[in-house]
Amino acid sequence: NEFPEQPVSSGFKDRDDDSEEFKGEYEHSDILMEMLHQKFGLSSFRPQQREVINASLTQHDCFVLMPTGGGKSLCYQLPAVLMPGVTIVISPLRALISDQVDKLNALDISSAHLCADVSKQDSNQIYLKLSMKEPGIKLLYLTPEKITASRIIIETLNGLYKRGKLARFVIDEVHCLSQWGHDFRPDYKQLGMLRTNYPEVPIICLTATATKQVENDVINILHLRNVKRFIRSFNRPNIKYQVINKKGKATDDIANLIKSKFAKKSGIVYCLSRGDCDKLADDFIQLNIKAKPYHAGMNDKVREVIQREWMQDRFHVIVATIAFGMGIDKPDVRFVIHNSIPKSVEAFYQESGRGGRDGEISYSYLFYSYGDVTRLRKLMQMDRKQSKKTLEAHYENLKQMVSFAENLVDCRRYLQLIHLGEHFDRRICIANKATTCDNCENIDKYSTKDVTKEAKELCTIVKDLSGNENITMLHVVDVYKGAKVKKVLDRRHDKHSYYGAGASLNRNDVQRILKELLLKHILNDFCTYTGEFPVVYITTEPNTRKTEVVATAPRNSTGWIDNSGASTSKEIVRHSVQKQNIAKLQAVRKLQQEDLKVRCHEALLE
Ligand code: ADP
Ligand code: MG
Ligand code: ZN
Repeated sequence: NEFPEQPVSSGFKDRDDDSEEFKGEYEHSDILMEMLHQKFGLSSFRPQQREVINASLTQHDCFVLMPTGGGKSLCYQLPAVLMPGVTIVISPLRALISDQVDKLNALDISSAHLCADVSKQDSNQIYLKLSMKEPGIKLLYLTPEKITASRIIIETLNGLYKRGKLARFVIDEVHCLSQWGHDFRPDYKQLGMLRTNYPEVPIICLTATATKQVENDVINILHLRNVKRFIRSFNRPNIKYQVINKKGKATDDIANLIKSKFAKKSGIVYCLSRGDCDKLADDFIQLNIKAKPYHAGMNDKVREVIQREWMQDRFHVIVATIAFGMGIDKPDVRFVIHNSIPKSVEAFYQESGRGGRDGEISYSYLFYSYGDVTRLRKLMQMDRKQSKKTLEAHYENLKQMVSFAENLVDCRRYLQLIHLGEHFDRRICIANKATTCDNCENIDKYSTKDVTKEAKELCTIVKDLSGNENITMLHVVDVYKGAKVKKVLDRRHDKHSYYGAGASLNRNDVQRILKELLLKHILNDFCTYTGEFPVVYITTEPNTRKTEVVATAPRNSTGWIDNSGASTSKEIVRHSVQKQNIAKLQAVRKLQQEDLKVRCHEALLE
């Protein structure tokens, strides 16, 4: 049985996680629950919150990795209330800080911040409270700039420390201190002094950025000792993922979906352009759906009003570009629809992840058509401020997203989480019936075939034929299938020892194997433009060829990037294909030890 009933645990391979150690009962366990209910008004803990709090209350340094919306704040706020002394929270943005402080004070938990906009009078008040025998503040929020540069703050901390009233340091968004993180802030690096100056005070660090590199940097720079790690899966179990083939404009399909399934429910519909948003919102209104557009072309005031109205359920459907979403914390979003392909798998994860923050089921629909890919590529090209390298990276990300959308066999969760470095076991998706993804629902229609032999044969063809000339994926397919077409016969490629070796295979499946090999960087591809058409060639060589692009228009037959034929306009662009330092031949050798498995339709690849 390929998929036994019991899901095995999922998570980050090669990443230590110490949550098991903190699962037991503690003296403080009862009071924890009481606090959760009475002080925070919550009914139960979310995964790993209890464990982090236990570790924290037993004075450990902690590194907490949880997805956005996972509930990181509670992990330090609850201990802060429970323990004597002041908890110092370092957070990078003033907006985040005032939001948190307002929420805490509304819960009657005395907190304060010392950002630049605090009046002299207020800050004096705060310093006074902090100098009391029993400080009148439980949580003090600071930016990293303040804690490293402000004389008076340093003196205040020293005073608290001497009196034994520094309970804990919390460093939120801690990935900011790593150059590998996406939001590097030099001031964060200075925070190493916390351990040096206040050696006895435990530190808890929180982030939603998943790389191991960031984790190591954090531990080194902050001098954490015997650190306890809490690495929570990024799987969102309450989101149901579905990709829908989009035929033409999907307006009616989307409208019907919203009306039949999500009447009076909050949702987001993401569109590619501002124009699309305006148009779709109009169409929705015609179809009796209360909707409003939201995009960067509108002025700040208007956008603020629209966001507030949506948050307050004054209307339900917001039709937005990706400008909408940062810092959105509406708990009851029941659906997120992508009317067009997102720019990367990460973006898709984030955007669909805005649904279901309250833990109830939320639905993610991706309406996919290749025409949108071509449109998005054009938009990317039009942004002339960016470097060639950035553009290439965008293309690569988009390519991965296309591969996600076109994949009909692998688990949608697996396909997303692998991008965050997490190895997800699809049995969890299958077991969770209410939110099983579309591909896992269809799992019976497919079976796994070991195609290592075919993959090796294809690699050999690519290696032999791409040495002297450029060959396309379709050419390789033709050779493998033994097609008697002119371009193969003219080049005497019918003499290759694997000519016709794959005659019994379906063309589509041969292409899927090749795509899989490209995705795994066992084969490589590069692009040149002959006349008007881009041609994608594949090779076993590391991709160091520089190729000038003189004109682009999608071509129907390359089978890889530009296979839509949806547009005919020409655009002059110049870029060089990214250099990739991957030893292809070595990779081909590696394949001999590793099975390549591709899931296929039962009927195919027999
Ligand atoms: P993060 O910092 O991990 O992105 P937050 O701490 O801001 O997440 O929490 C996200 C949302 O989840 C908040 O609205 C918070 O009130 C809510 N939340 C946190 N813990 C719980 C819980 N145990 N039960 C219900 N809601 C919770
Ligand atoms: Mg947070
Ligand atoms: Zn699945």
